[in-house]
Amino acid sequence: MNKHFKPNERELVKVATFFKKQSRKLIGEGKLGKEHAKVEEAVDRFVEQMEHHANTRASILQEREYLNKLVKDDAECPNCHKRDMLKLIGTEKNEKGWKSNRYRCRRCNIEFTWNRPNNPWDMLRYIEEVLQVLQLKQGDASVSDAEKEQMATAIQNMQANFNKLKPVIDAHEQEYNNLLTRDSEMEKLIHEFKNSLLIEKIKMDTWENKNK
Ligand SMILES: [Zn+2]
Repeated sequence: MNKHFKPNERELVKVATFFKKQSRKLIGEGKLGKEHAKVEEAVDRFVEQMEHHANTRASILQEREYLNKLVKDDAECPNCHKRDMLKLIGTEKNEKGWKSNRYRCRRCNIEFTWNRPNNPWDMLRYIEEVLQVLQLKQGDASVSDAEKEQMATAIQNMQANFNKLKPVIDAHEQEYNNLLTRDSEMEKLIHEFKNSLLIEKIKMDTWENKNK
């Protein structure tokens, strides 16, 4: 059995296997016409389709998990400004809905939530916001030329990061949303297919009893 199957998919495979066994038995005993083998083929095709869907789903979800861990937040202790004694103790959402990591510095014995997001989705929004702030500051008359140059470099780096991350996340989001749609369609199909198999099974049982 495919390890990526959900419970309803597993259940359908069980019903399908039972159905095929029964149908083969009846065909073998001559109680059911050979044309009934066509139903078996339809069952095989459906299970194959389900298998394909389950494998695609698993690979998209795996990619999502990978992306979720892609962003390194470079957190450091706000007190000792070091990273070596940090222990991740949880996550927290800020007022903007960004998810960040919460740490304990075992040297200073303090807990803090890092000010940068811990995932690429929120990171894109974070970069966008920082870019806006930097661009605004650049136009400020009180900012020195040296500072402006520093800002320009920072903007360039952040923009480059943004441009690298954005298409990857966008492409994945589209795939993921398509998956969610297909998954709920599949759920309906599985439900219908299972019902039709159960009806076929009742027909077969009746047929078997009649011909005893
Ligand atoms: Zn510290």
